[in-house]
Amino acid sequence: AAKQRGRNTHVVYDATMAQALEERRLIEVAMRRALFAGEFALAYQPQVDLRSRRIIGFEALARWTHPERGVVSPEIFIPIAEESGLIVELGEWVLRRACADAAPWDPAITVAVNVSSQQFHEERFLATVREALEDSGLPPGRLELEVTESAMLHDSEKMLAVLNSLRAMGVRLSMDDFGTGYCALNYLQKFPFDKIKIDQSFVRNLGSKEESDAIVRAVASLGVSLGIKTIAEGIETQDQADLVLDAACGEGQGYLFSRPVPVGMVPELLAAQREAHPA
Ligand code: C2E
Ligand code: MG
Ligand code: MG
Ligand code: MG
Repeated sequence: AAKQRGRNTHVVYDATMAQALEERRLIEVAMRRALFAGEFALAYQPQVDLRSRRIIGFEALARWTHPERGVVSPEIFIPIAEESGLIVELGEWVLRRACADAAPWDPAITVAVNVSSQQFHEERFLATVREALEDSGLPPGRLELEVTESAMLHDSEKMLAVLNSLRAMGVRLSMDDFGTGYCALNYLQKFPFDKIKIDQSFVRNLGSKEESDAIVRAVASLGVSLGIKTIAEGIETQDQADLVLDAACGEGQGYLFSRPVPVGMVPELLAAQREAHPA
């Protein structure tokens, strides 16, 4: 009977696995087409100076609206794009689009683009960044590349060389989702990032979980001592914003300030802030 049950479990398991694999394959095929069909778009989320509440930059976030499935979350399609290698093409599209979108904005406003570790390991990556900047006319200092901590795990010598070349071009570098990977501190010693993004999992529990308060404080003061800016992700409440600022983290991003918006709304947001606080 045990054997029988074991076999049945196995069959069910296989069927579910096969279904999941088929679903991934379908998404992968649809994504390949979507790139050509123009189904991808970018949404832009403001990043603010917590003290003045002024917008200092925007993070570009990939959005996909499938004609039948509707909106597909990046939490679904980014991992599939990474596994299938499509992230290289998608990432290049995001980079070029974001540079072109941001070029006409106020020259004090930066644009942050997420980059997967696979893109970093592409031979063409540096040339792609250079081209995206040249074609759009965006000054390199206005482009910020966000790299996740876990991306640093692979092939760190090569990674270091690429980061140094980007730095030499004048591009800024942020470490994304800080605190969720394994080797962040080690990496900060090898390469001075311009900014650390404190992961939203810590921000979410501020004021309710002592450990999160301690971690946010520790990361913010690490930033102060190393001369690296810190930004807290996922700020949803005024209490969280106050706690983050009190911890000496100067910048924030989250629904409290704004959800990610379509590119057409960026000039409106910037104009509204010029009216609210004339220079
Ligand atoms: P991320 O880079 O850490 O981006 C922040 C995510 O947090 C975004 O989710 C954003 O919409 C969400 N968020 C912002 N403020 C709040 C808040 O106050 N509360 C909550 N609950 N969430 C907030 P999104 O757009 O779904 O993107 C998820 C992840 O997908 C990103 O995390 C990033 O890792 C990845 N991703 C998105 N676009 C790209 C891309 O163009 N390239 C690559 N490689 N990855 C991307
Ligand atoms: Mg990011
Ligand atoms: Mg993040
Ligand atoms: Mg994240």
